[in-house]
Amino acid sequence: MKRKYRTTQRENTKYSFDCKLGKNKKMDDAVYALRKNVMKYIYEAKQIIESAGFDFTRQNIRIVERNDENYRTALGCGAMNDNIVWIPDCVAANDPDLRFIVFHELGHSMFGLNHDSKCPLMNAVITRGMDAGSIHKIFLRYVRKNLGGKK
Ligand SMILES: [Zn+2]
Repeated sequence: MKRKYRTTQRENTKYSFDCKLGKNKKMDDAVYALRKNVMKYIYEAKQIIESAGFDFTRQNIRIVERNDENYRTALGCGAMNDNIVWIPDCVAANDPDLRFIVFHELGHSMFGLNHDSKCPLMNAVITRGMDAGSIHKIFLRYVRKNLGGKK
């Protein structure tokens, strides 16, 4: 089966991506610390999902080395409905909107959501500076819509 991917872009870019961002980094202490930054938001999402009475599907989180020039603007990547999220090392290290990026990629990896220009969270271009409450609210709406039928 061919995997489908979606990535989040920095502002003012119009690239379309359909594949991985770069090589997975080997797990060592430094990479583990970066992965921990991402996992913090994965746990947030898990809490939201479980508080709403649904089951959380375990996500595979990979820290990648963004070494391909073509992907220099990419902030993350999610495998559609496949529960895998890739975050570039530099983004995991210091992007102020890492929460947004992780929740956006979960939209792809957990629910297979496509980009939606009308949704501030699932827009192909990042919405900078969105607060945690707003991100959680939109995410919860997707949780209810996508997991609601299974309850
Ligand atoms: Zn995306």
